[in-house]
Amino acid sequence: MSDLRELYQQLIIDHGRKPRNFGPMAGATQVQQGFNPLCGDKITLYLLERNGVIEDVKFEGAGCAISMASASMMSQALRGKSVAEAKHLFTDFHELVTEGSDAASERLGKLGVLKGVCEYPARVKCATLCWHTLLAALEHRSDVVNTESTP
Ligand code: ZN
Repeated sequence: MSDLRELYQQLIIDHGRKPRNFGPMAGATQVQQGFNPLCGDKITLYLLERNGVIEDVKFEGAGCAISMASASMMSQALRGKSVAEAKHLFTDFHELVTEGSDAASERLGKLGVLKGVCEYPARVKCATLCWHTLLAALEHRSDVVNTESTP
């Protein structure tokens, strides 16, 4: 295993153990739940959206290290982004973890560390759960997101 890869792993483990922006949010404009039945990961995502900009992001939940690390890093990446930018990030992230796209990795910056997930197809839904939940929140869907019914 290369040093770089080890560093990536450590970042994922660190975020998994100490998720950032973890906890409830009072006054959230959107609250969305997501569930990955393959692994048992659960997430509740809170957004504070004002004038098309995501001003704050928090989440609660329980699941494997990858699902928690992914949500933690997503929450950091989204703050201050417009809804349109957040949807672009969703597309790039999906490309990253399903295809291992280098171009997507460059556009995603820090989030690119999750690229290694593409080598483990069973874990892709762990990494994308929070993103599917985000998309549902941005589109104001009210049903619980289930990764088994998303493409
Ligand atoms: Zn998982």
